Amino acid sequence: MASTTLPLSTEALLAFDREHLWHPYSSTLNPPQVFAVASASGTRLKLEDGRELIDGMASWWSVIHGYSHPELNSALHRQIDKMSHVMFGGLTHRPAVELSARLLEITPSTLTRVFFSDSGSVAVEVAIKLAIQYWAARQQPRKHRLLTVRGGYHGDTFGAMAVCDPVTGMHSLFSHALTQHIFADRPDIAFDGTWHEDAFSNVEQSMRQHHMEIAAVIVEPIVQGAGGMWFYHREYLRKLRALCDELDTLLIFDEIATGFGRTGKLFACEHAGVNPDIMCLGKALTGGYMSLAATLTTADVAATISGGEPGVFMHGPTFMANPLACAVSLASIDLLHETHWSTKVLNIEAKLRTLLEPCRSLSAVSDVRILGAIGVVELHQAVDMYRIPQLFIERGVWLRPFGRLVYLMPPYIISDAELATIADAIYAVLSDPPLVMRIEEA
Ligand SMILES: *Cc1c(COP(=O)(O)O)cnc(C)c1O
Repeated sequence: MASTTLPLSTEALLAFDREHLWHPYSSTLNPPQVFAVASASGTRLKLEDGRELIDGMASWWSVIHGYSHPELNSALHRQIDKMSHVMFGGLTHRPAVELSARLLEITPSTLTRVFFSDSGSVAVEVAIKLAIQYWAARQQPRKHRLLTVRGGYHGDTFGAMAVCDPVTGMHSLFSHALTQHIFADRPDIAFDGTWHEDAFSNVEQSMRQHHMEIAAVIVEPIVQGAGGMWFYHREYLRKLRALCDELDTLLIFDEIATGFGRTGKLFACEHAGVNPDIMCLGKALTGGYMSLAATLTTADVAATISGGEPGVFMHGPTFMANPLACAVSLASIDLLHETHWSTKVLNIEAKLRTLLEPCRSLSAVSDVRILGAIGVVELHQAVDMYRIPQLFIERGVWLRPFGRLVYLMPPYIISDAELATIADAIYAVLSDPPLVMRIEEA
């Protein structure tokens, strides 16, 4: 490793990054271009070279109130002066208890028990372990598999990866090491489509065939995120709940991307009016300030596990219920209510419907869909991940498309003018398909 004199120049910083760091899903031989952010506030990312970008990504769903929010900053300052961290084994603290109380107030009333962890993937691991321990405690160890639908994304750790879409989740690479679960077809009727019963027959058939081995069904309610940005019909969730009840199977909702207002409801399951037995939260939980996740469950699941062998739930991360993360999360939830999140999200939805509509007529575009504060422009072919962010940056916008999807999920504080700038940039960039398409991926 080259010796380094600090502070680095921007060029040296980027060169070191290229030589020595990994970025998400990246190659070290052909590293993606990355941009150095010096600071961020509100909806703006400020790059080291002085350029300022409007953020269309909310840092992967999480920064719902914008960057460097004064109230969230001060919640963290107050907490750091008391304590940054303390172990959760044998100890408890006000931030954890107050945050759980708030979470139980705003989530479905059937959920009464909270397990904190440090990332979304781990919250999913915890949910899977809860489901397996539940059936072990009920003397039905055969019920240890999961059923899920294609097109899902639940995280990158092994347990979570095993319920991600088998193709986009690249299962074949890890097939010898992954638990084999049961996959049903993607829920294929769109959120605003017309429901017909055939749309449920594939999953129903799998459930009836395998329920003796199924511990739980896990899905992202209403919105499948990283697995394809797909919005599906609420009736699917209602039928799924009824079938899980009939066949005695737990239902897990992964609300890590959808939680905290993103889809126009505080939690996406409210669109269908159905409650899960286990719910995973993460991403926007702390307003995007820190890594924190939570797995919530019912009194029945908690009591059954605790009444079985070995009488305890077998999980306990080092940084469980970190006080800083809990404090900023509590402040973020309060801020959601104080700032009338619902009006904001519904306004973004209405604006995106108008602003993204022109994209529909572009030859590169196959679909435009909007739900809450999520806008998706789907293309016929995959974009060139190496070139397209640069084209948006030239227009003052931060977007990070993947595959055939150009999408935005901005901070809720975004202005109408900023939304228009992002929409114009999308239209302009996609108007020139040869510039953005990697033809060999078609
Ligand atoms: C992002 C995401 C996860 C994984 O969360 P991490 O914090 O990245 O581990 C799990 N499920 C869904 C639906 C997600 O969007």
